[in-house]
Amino acid sequence: MNPILPNATIGVFGSGQLGRMLAIEARKMGYRVATFSPGEDTPTGQVADLEVSADYMNLEEVKKFAEQVDVITYEFENIPSKTIEIAAQFTQVHPKGEVLYITQNRLREKNFLSKNGFPVADFHHIQTVEDLYRAVESIGTPSVLKTAGFGYDGKGQQRIKSVSDIDNAFEKLDGKEAVLEAFVDFEKEVSVVAARDAKGNFVNYDIIENDHANHILDVSVAPAEVSEKVYKDAIEIACGIVEKFEYVGTLCVEFFLTTDEKLLINEIAPRPHNSGHLTFDSACITSQFEQQLRAVCGLTLGSTEFLRPTAMANLLGDLWQNGEPDWGKILEQKNLKLHLYGKQEARIGRKMGHLTAVAETSADAAKIVRQARERLLLKQNG
Ligand code: AMP
Repeated sequence: MNPILPNATIGVFGSGQLGRMLAIEARKMGYRVATFSPGEDTPTGQVADLEVSADYMNLEEVKKFAEQVDVITYEFENIPSKTIEIAAQFTQVHPKGEVLYITQNRLREKNFLSKNGFPVADFHHIQTVEDLYRAVESIGTPSVLKTAGFGYDGKGQQRIKSVSDIDNAFEKLDGKEAVLEAFVDFEKEVSVVAARDAKGNFVNYDIIENDHANHILDVSVAPAEVSEKVYKDAIEIACGIVEKFEYVGTLCVEFFLTTDEKLLINEIAPRPHNSGHLTFDSACITSQFEQQLRAVCGLTLGSTEFLRPTAMANLLGDLWQNGEPDWGKILEQKNLKLHLYGKQEARIGRKMGHLTAVAETSADAAKIVRQARERLLLKQNG
C-alpha cells in the first residue's frame, strides 16, 4: 500500500464527535477531510472541508463520495454493509466491511469472539419468548437482555431479575432479535485501545480504567490499576482480536474485570473510543485519532507512550438543564482541557463534550476533571 500523504482527502462515514476529533488531527497534519452522513451542520461537518448530507443507502451519492476521496474510514458502526461494499469498489476502506458487519451486531460479535476462543460472558440467542425462558433457566438471574443491533450506552438493554420479568422484557423487544447474557459482577471495567497497520504492526495504549454512570461512560483514567497478569492478558486478547480481523485502524476492546482477575469482553468498537479521548491533549505522543489516520493512510504507527497520567470526564446533555454551562468559569482553571462537540441540541444522556487533565497520578487527574465538572453542576443548580 502506497502511503496516503498530507494534502490527500480522508473520507469519513459518520459525522459525530469521533469523526470531528479525527478531522481535527487530520487537518493539523495538512489532510483534507470529507464527511458523509444524513445530518447537516454535524460535529464532523463543522471542521471538515466537505460535508455530504445523504442517506447511507443513497448509493449514487456513496459512489460519488468514494470517487472524491483517497481513503475511507468510519467513526460509527451502524453504517449499512451495502454502503461499505459500494464505497470499496471505488476507493480503499479501512477497517474492512467484514469487521463492521460483525461488530455492528452483538450476536455476530459474541459468536465471532467465542468461536475464536476469546472470553465472553455466557450468552444465548433470543428470537422467541420460549428461547428467553430456556436461556434464563440456563444462565440464571440476574441476567441482561440486549437487542442484537443498534445497542450502545445501555440502549436496548434490560435487566432480568427473576422469571417473572421475562414476558414483559420480551414484549419490550418489539420483535427485535436479542441476546441474553449473564450479569457480570465485575470489580471494574477496563478497555484497551489499540491500532494495527496493514503490515501487521500492533500498538496499544495500555489499560484504561472506566467508570460508568447509568450505563454511559462517565470517567476514564490511565494508567489503570491492574495486576501484571491482567495487563498481559488484556493486551494479548486485544492483539489476538486485531490479528484475527486483519484489522487496519484504531479499535477498542471493552472488558469486565472480575474479582478473581478474569477478563470478559463486553464489546468491541471498530473505531476510536470514548475511553481513548484521554490520549489527546499531550497525554500521549500520538492520540487515538492520529493513530487511526496513520493506520488507514498506510503510514508508520505513532508512539503510544503516555507522557503523564491522565483522566477524562464526559459532559452529558444533563449539564445543560438550566441553560448553557459557564465555560468562562471552567476555563479559568489552567490545568484543564475542554472539548465541546458542536452539537446544537443538549439531550439528557447525550455526549456533548468532555474534560481532560494530566497530573502526577491518574487518581489526581481524575479528581481534577470530576471536581471541575461538579463545579459546573453546582453553578447550574445554584
Ligand atoms: P453496553 O451497552 O453493552 O456497552 O453496556 C453499557 C454498560 O452496562 C456496561 O459498560 C456495563 O457497565 C453495563 N453492563 C452491560 N452488560 C453487562 C453485564 N452483562 N453485566 C454487568 N453489567 C453490564
